[in-house]
Amino acid sequence: MNIVPIPAFADNYIWCLHLANHKALVVDPGDARAVTTYLQANQLELAGILVTHHHFDHTGGVDALAAGTNVTVIGPAHSPFEGATQTVEGGEHLQLFGLNIDVLRVPGHTLDHIAYYIAEHDAIFCGDTLFSGGCGRVFEGTFEQMRASLESLRALPAATRIYCAHEYTAANLRFAVAVDPDNKALRQRVAEVSNLRAQNQPTLPSRLADECLSNPFLRWDDPAIIASAQQKEPIFTADDVFRVIRQWKDSF
Ligand SMILES: [Zn+2]
Repeated sequence: MNIVPIPAFADNYIWCLHLANHKALVVDPGDARAVTTYLQANQLELAGILVTHHHFDHTGGVDALAAGTNVTVIGPAHSPFEGATQTVEGGEHLQLFGLNIDVLRVPGHTLDHIAYYIAEHDAIFCGDTLFSGGCGRVFEGTFEQMRASLESLRALPAATRIYCAHEYTAANLRFAVAVDPDNKALRQRVAEVSNLRAQNQPTLPSRLADECLSNPFLRWDDPAIIASAQQKEPIFTADDVFRVIRQWKDSF
């Protein structure tokens, strides 16, 4: 399946899935015009929208795209975002648009945050929860919630591709190297990402297997990450490791 990033704003990606019969599904359309332009250029008709969480850079285009149409809008329940035609809590298995979509509840960045996993295409659309080389800021939830959410993403098959919503990889990796300077897999990822960015190419999707080796926010149980966190404050639990690293990144 063709899954294409539509760039929006400074560093957002709106993922567009090309379905059969010239239909398309978009994830987190913060900017309606970017989507409309892409759909027209590729002779696609919008069939559906998936929303991961309520932030405006993920939802701002939904009304304009869906108004007066029968586009299906799937969004989180108990959310400030009220533009969904069908809400989901997490845990559902949806059969929509010819796809089998598992909804995962991943609170932390926001309380309403969900992710969409499509096993047959090895794809997770995880919004601002897991990024390549990093993770979202913990705005509404607790560090414990965020780590548990990342743990559920880490448990997906290693071949899963990470379709997150921002091109933050290069900055994330600068921090990752500060936390984990002796990690060879991380150094290799830095080189790859640097090449891609030099050619103005997206660094996404990344592979979960590579994230598990290089992303400090998936490695709260790795001795190198624990040792780095220990230098900031005494560490007792996996949640402590995650919190210390996340707070360190916030002021990096
Ligand atoms: Zn967000």
